[in-house]
Amino acid sequence: MIAQADTALLDVQRLSKTYLGRHNLADRLSGRKQTRVQAVSDVSFGVRPGEILGLIGESGCGKSTLGRSILRLHEPSAGKVVFDGVDVTGLDDAAMKAMRRRMQIIFQDPYASLNPRRTVAEIVGLPLKLHGLTKTPTEARDKVVAMVEKVGLKSAHLDRYPHQFSGGQRQRIGIARALVSNPEFIVCDEPVSALDVSIQAQIIELLTDLKQEMGLTYLFISHDISVIGYLSDRVAVMYLGEIVEMGPVESILTGPRHPYTQSLMSAVPEVDAGVRKARVRLTGDLPSPLSPPSGCKFHTRCPLAIDICRRQAPVTERVGNGHQAACHRLNENLSLLDPVGT
Ligand code: SF4
Repeated sequence: MIAQADTALLDVQRLSKTYLGRHNLADRLSGRKQTRVQAVSDVSFGVRPGEILGLIGESGCGKSTLGRSILRLHEPSAGKVVFDGVDVTGLDDAAMKAMRRRMQIIFQDPYASLNPRRTVAEIVGLPLKLHGLTKTPTEARDKVVAMVEKVGLKSAHLDRYPHQFSGGQRQRIGIARALVSNPEFIVCDEPVSALDVSIQAQIIELLTDLKQEMGLTYLFISHDISVIGYLSDRVAVMYLGEIVEMGPVESILTGPRHPYTQSLMSAVPEVDAGVRKARVRLTGDLPSPLSPPSGCKFHTRCPLAIDICRRQAPVTERVGNGHQAACHRLNENLSLLDPVGT
């Protein structure tokens, strides 16, 4: 395991999340085994203050579970999350509630994450109330107005309900709710993937502006390599609950070392019209985390798999400045992305 935590605001140490299936008396008497889904497996990384760490992988690979486990919206099964020097995983309920003011989340589906019976003023004002951040209703209203305007909505919107807004506006409400308590760290959990492409760009721009203005640090989760490549300072690539490659964004975009990252990169249109990259088509779906493959979890879909890959999990190795990957064939410098003619 390679440490990342030297100057980290957030330090995730060997974090795992396992979900146990239902196992009642009848199951036990009939000798049926309890199902275990290892959604996140022994994940470690750090996020520095002011940084955007992009977390990419296919749907179902454990990205959202990882984001929620960091905030303890889902209780981690093992490992530690240290935020600004405090072991968040060891906090009691009251201390965790106070910590949540500093660590927030923006959800993927703005409509599902907003209470349809509450007005914008109530939705955005709730974190102020929960954390006791204002003394009078007037002060609370003023803070809500300022926040709503900061995300590009108007004070005239305050008494409207979520269904009266477009998808992009609803996501702005979700962003205002996440930021009104003046947090430092935000898990952005696929915040643009439910939006039209034209709206995605506006929300990405808003999030980058707010990051600058409010001094925020993001863990930005997406399945879209173009979004991750545009926004991130560093990128972590996740496959079936594990981080298989991580490094500075330029390194990952121009020199991905893991075959899975290379397959993700092959889907990005080539800027240089004279060069045509190989298009890597992975066969099969993401395997079920109920019964993950042995050895390297990617071996069932990896075009470069050899015998050892089926038997032994690869260790994470340094492959460049701040760049690491886990693959048995790193030293062979193979690439699935070599140009395929002009
Ligand atoms: Fe492919 Fe083997 Fe590397 Fe896994 S360890 S990514 S199966 S070559």
